[in-house]
Amino acid sequence: QPYGRVFNFSAGPAVLPVEVLEQAQADLLNWQGSGMSVMEMSHRGKEFQSIIDGAEADLRALLAIPDNYQVLFMQGGASSQFSAIPLNLSAEGDTLDYIVTGSWSKKAAGEAKKYGKVNVVATGDNKSVPDPSSWKLSPDAKYVHYCDNETIQGVEFKAPPVVGDKVLVADMSSNFCSKPVDVSKYGLIYAGAQKNIGPAGVTIVIVRDDLIGNSRPSTPVMLDYKVQADDKSMYNTPPCWAIYMCGLVFAKMRRDGGLAAVQQANEKKAKVLYDAIAGSNGFYSSPVDAAARSMMNVPFTIPANADLEKEFVSQAAKHSMIQLKGHRSVGGMRASIYNSMPLDGVQQLANFMKEFAVNSA
Ligand code: PLP
Repeated sequence: QPYGRVFNFSAGPAVLPVEVLEQAQADLLNWQGSGMSVMEMSHRGKEFQSIIDGAEADLRALLAIPDNYQVLFMQGGASSQFSAIPLNLSAEGDTLDYIVTGSWSKKAAGEAKKYGKVNVVATGDNKSVPDPSSWKLSPDAKYVHYCDNETIQGVEFKAPPVVGDKVLVADMSSNFCSKPVDVSKYGLIYAGAQKNIGPAGVTIVIVRDDLIGNSRPSTPVMLDYKVQADDKSMYNTPPCWAIYMCGLVFAKMRRDGGLAAVQQANEKKAKVLYDAIAGSNGFYSSPVDAAARSMMNVPFTIPANADLEKEFVSQAAKHSMIQLKGHRSVGGMRASIYNSMPLDGVQQLANFMKEFAVNSA
């Protein structure tokens, strides 16, 4: 790997494209002749304005975001959106629908309970998306929230949930920009940057115009979508560096053929890994049903001998494949294969899995 880099299978913060890191390195001391790095320039200056405008324009082009949606660059991580969403989209006492398919949607629902009457539409079994025929949508919910890809469990929706005329709200933190998405099906999409699109510190919120402007009076100003939209994400000092880095990633994705090409590459990588699990004669096992397997986060176990899992993780690290330990709440292994993980890295992991299984037999 260039620069002695490892293959980083972390669930986030995650790997970024080398080309982008090189660009950032070149810009670090002097961004485009401005005599400053992006970290040093005024966010009110024309230089940074061109950076944030470019980032937004490229994201709009990538996702074909309709004109009646705002793109907000917010702070506080995706976790802050767990509170911002009920505060902006509902009034006290309103019913809020949550589909719970894993740890992150459970957390989002838990936070929303502070602000409204949370109705859990369905609870998953951590290995599948619950059958829509069992969902108990409430007739009067202000919105239906779900997590498109559960980073810890590796459970991903293959299509947006069908919720009739209800406002659909999606946490896409761990699969944002991994594939084309029909934004018009959503009232709001949010995603922390640090998996697929940039460094931690910026959270993208894509929100439909009619959902802006009804925040509760108690909403912290920084979480108010109207304030952020009116001030073009610059009510206060924005995370300039993180936005700049996301801009470089968006531009690269466009150069590389857009989200259809990204999806194709991601499908190929995920297939290599799931095939390695399936072809291991039961040595490895995927805890997730085939229909809900994530293209981004691939958990797997060694069912016959869980003691070997620790050994697997430490031996892989010796071969420059790091961060393969499963989340502490579920154990096993997890390979996160976000956009910037090259196919080479996944192939190397699949080869290592094969060797490890043979050597452990
Ligand atoms: N939602 C999902 C699906 C995540 O994977 C994460 C973080 O891993 C979060 C929300 C929380 O994001 P943040 O750390 O940006 O608050």
